[in-house]
Amino acid sequence: MIPISIEAYVKKHCEGNPGENPQKLKENLKQAVKDKKNGATCSNCGQEIWAIGSAVAYQGCFSCLTGEVDSSEDYEIKEVCWS
Ligand SMILES: [Zn+2]
Repeated sequence: MIPISIEAYVKKHCEGNPGENPQKLKENLKQAVKDKKNGATCSNCGQEIWAIGSAVAYQGCFSCLTGEVDSSEDYEIKEVCWS
């Protein structure tokens, strides 16, 4: 995954989604990062969660949220980006 800071991701996401509330997204991302650090796992398959996807959609791993296996071109918050 491509490491990105919360600030940079919020900016990027809101540029593509003008209806999004940046403050709310930031809060969600902070919470998702905290959850991931605490070992939160996907309720569907038990893998570690994808913080960004969990902030914008629901708590789950990359594969379950996107239906894709390859996450090399997708972002993850750098604090919890391990691959
Ligand atoms: Zn999963």
